[in-house]
Amino acid sequence: MAQTAFTPRVFSGIQPSGGLTLGNYLGAMKRFVEMQDAGTHETIFCMVDLHAITATLPPPDQLRHNTRELCAGFLAIGIDPEKSILFNQSQVPEHAQMAWIFNCIARMGWMGRMTQWKDKAGKNAEAASLGLFAYPTLMAADILVYHATHVPVGEDQKQHIELTRDIAAKFNHDYGVDFFPIAEPVIEGAATRVMNLQDGTKKMSKSDPSDKTRINLTDSADEIAKKIRKAKTDPDPLPETLDGLDGRPEARNLVNIYAALADIAPQAVLDQHAGALFGHFKMALADLAVAKMAPISTEMTRLMADPAEIDRILGRGAARARAITAPILARTYDIVGMLRS
Ligand code: ATP
Ligand code: MG
Repeated sequence: MAQTAFTPRVFSGIQPSGGLTLGNYLGAMKRFVEMQDAGTHETIFCMVDLHAITATLPPPDQLRHNTRELCAGFLAIGIDPEKSILFNQSQVPEHAQMAWIFNCIARMGWMGRMTQWKDKAGKNAEAASLGLFAYPTLMAADILVYHATHVPVGEDQKQHIELTRDIAAKFNHDYGVDFFPIAEPVIEGAATRVMNLQDGTKKMSKSDPSDKTRINLTDSADEIAKKIRKAKTDPDPLPETLDGLDGRPEARNLVNIYAALADIAPQAVLDQHAGALFGHFKMALADLAVAKMAPISTEMTRLMADPAEIDRILGRGAARARAITAPILARTYDIVGMLRS
């Protein structure tokens, strides 16, 4: 990872906007565990519940359930709440306070160019919430209120990290300080953009209305196998080289998923399966996916049986988070000229 003058610190967040998907796991969460276990960085992981009310207002009980289940997901994949700081965003008020400052740094033009805004607001932007438009400044605050230097995310979040860098640079420039780090996105692995199983041109999302489009970390072995069997593909066999996947987004997606689950390169998948038809390859992929994911699902179910313990973990994580965010927000307010007495 690139070095900066700031203490290396990893931050990433996930919205409790539905069940976790294979895309969240392969694109982002797998990296969280690797970075935590490397032990070279402080690692901070957040359930961004304030972001989860931007697209629609979920029923309150559902949001609470999703936040706890997301926490169970973090724990089940190997995040250790002693080694990492694990908490939900709304318990650390400095995120929203810093976001307000950044709302006054970011320009309307920058925000209007965000592809997530365009995708999620769709044709009816007039009816979208102001929160959905401001989503990326809150995300910049999530990162910068820790002075985080590295942000492991899926490919779809690259543009938001670039905006975070622009906000940090403009703040530093406007106030003549070197206060915020220019955070680096960490977008790695064979599946940085896992696609929708029914439409290889759209990314897999936990908030997609159709459950057939994604694999959830809580799906049973049967459900996983069935969704992979029914995934859209094409009639051609698997090619020998990666350029044989050009123009075949669904085929490329399944190859990338296989590679990421098996921890091998996509070319190595083709070395093993070139010439196979998808009927056959999908069976191998389903077996692999079930083997890797069923233990996560079982562990999540076990953890969800004790929601009070999850709430305790989140409360403790929030207290540890605030020990970092409160002084950074106070220094930001000082730089901006907010009076404290
Ligand atoms: P939503 O549909 O509510 O936006 P989501 O599935 O996109 O949900 P987020 O909480 O927005 O999930 O993103 C959490 C992390 O997962 C981010 O780092 C994001 O880049 C990553 N991610 C999300 N979807 C994918 C995907 N299909 N492939 C790879 N990474 C993904
Ligand atoms: Mg998303």
